[in-house]
Amino acid sequence: MASFDVVIVGGGPIGSTVARLLAQNGASTCVIERKEEIGFPSHCSGLVSRDFIDLGAVPEHLILNRIMGGTVYSFDTASYTFKNDIAYAYVIDRTGYDQFAYRMALSKGAKYILNSRIKSFERRKDCLRIFIDNNEDFIDTRIVVIATGGSFSVKKLFAFNEKPTEDIKTIQVETDFKTDNPHLVYIYMNNNIAHNWFSWVIPINGDRARIGLGTDRNENLLELFHRLCNEWDLLKGATIYASKRVIWHIPIGLARESIKDNVILVGDAAFQVKPFSGGGLYTGTLSAFFASEVILKALEKNDFSRNTLKEYERLWHPVIGREIERERTLRDIYTTITDIDKSEIIKELNRINVTKILTTYGRIDEPWRAGFPLILRTGKIVARYIGRKFQKLFKR
Ligand SMILES: Cc1cc2nc3c(=O)[nH]c(=O)nc-3n(C[C@H](O)[C@H](O)[C@H](O)COP(=O)(O)OP(=O)(O)OC[C@H]3O[C@@H](n4cnc5c(N)ncnc54)[C@H](O)[C@@H]3O)c2cc1C
Repeated sequence: MASFDVVIVGGGPIGSTVARLLAQNGASTCVIERKEEIGFPSHCSGLVSRDFIDLGAVPEHLILNRIMGGTVYSFDTASYTFKNDIAYAYVIDRTGYDQFAYRMALSKGAKYILNSRIKSFERRKDCLRIFIDNNEDFIDTRIVVIATGGSFSVKKLFAFNEKPTEDIKTIQVETDFKTDNPHLVYIYMNNNIAHNWFSWVIPINGDRARIGLGTDRNENLLELFHRLCNEWDLLKGATIYASKRVIWHIPIGLARESIKDNVILVGDAAFQVKPFSGGGLYTGTLSAFFASEVILKALEKNDFSRNTLKEYERLWHPVIGREIERERTLRDIYTTITDIDKSEIIKELNRINVTKILTTYGRIDEPWRAGFPLILRTGKIVARYIGRKFQKLFKR
């Protein structure tokens, strides 16, 4: 039998960040991780902001590329490119980052049990008793942090039954791929392939990239990926092997419940993911700070009731919850615009100048800052476009 102040289930970047923050403040901490090796395989594109680099203390050697802008393509190959002369996003070695977060937590004294899952648990008078699948023994703990990402089983075990409002299915490969400008990200909007989401090429350097797509439909992702390679001009002619694809998903929604007596959800497990871009590293890490602050206070008070842990929701809701709601609005607008309209908007963007909006407000952690002024500009375009359609009808 072992006993820890805190048991964290899931040794991803967010679980390991909570583990580090707790262990370095003297809490005895144990992480239970189902994988044998931390960080493999990576499902993530690893595109992050400077704010995340600073918050996650990402070491320089894990920054693989600097992104200065992007090219957005419509289904019929219209494209719009915006560029900045400073980096506004970074591509990180995501497996390397997970392992870095793990080593940091270890160095502060957190223990890891790899290749293991929780089988069951019992609520006892003064602790939770955790049983692990490949172990006859048990662990007693005062609080459990669920940081299992998009997996549902552990949440269900602890009676967190809320499902995300939307579940975006994704497929991504990291592959050899030559790009003329490796400092741009490339986005392709085609609802027949990436329904209500988008496809992407995120260069790691001039010779290698992460290529993937997301969709809100239940379709064969590998088939969609092959269609992407055949239909997106940017990828035509390239040899892309999908054998090392990673299929995963992005939970979208604002969790109504992220705490119970003795239990806290953090990161993707709490849907702390941005609904417009699917980014969750910054929001999850921010939340890891909130969660550990509240857990340390609870340990001091020896009170792990829902009431005490409520403080966690009071911290993350106004910051991350607000961002999720803003991006949800952007996403609602995005999903109502048809592919044809997106193509017209892209063509118009080449005629008007939105560089100032993008360079002034373009932040990947807060896309609404650029998004809403852009909608104001392009909203006029859509209105004009629809007006022109009507004019044509009347002329017939
Ligand atoms: C295709 C794709 C691209 C993305 N791109 C970006 C991006 O560019 N930028 C960005 O900021 N975000 C991105 N994200 C989101 C980002 O990957 C997540 O927000 C982030 O990984 C969340 O971290 P986490 O620790 O909460 O969950 P995870 O990274 O999923 O880690 C969860 C951990 O829990 C473990 N686990 C699961 N179940 C159990 C169990 N039963 N028992 C024990 N352990 C368990 C898993 O093995 C894993 O190690 C992307 C997501 C996807 C799907």
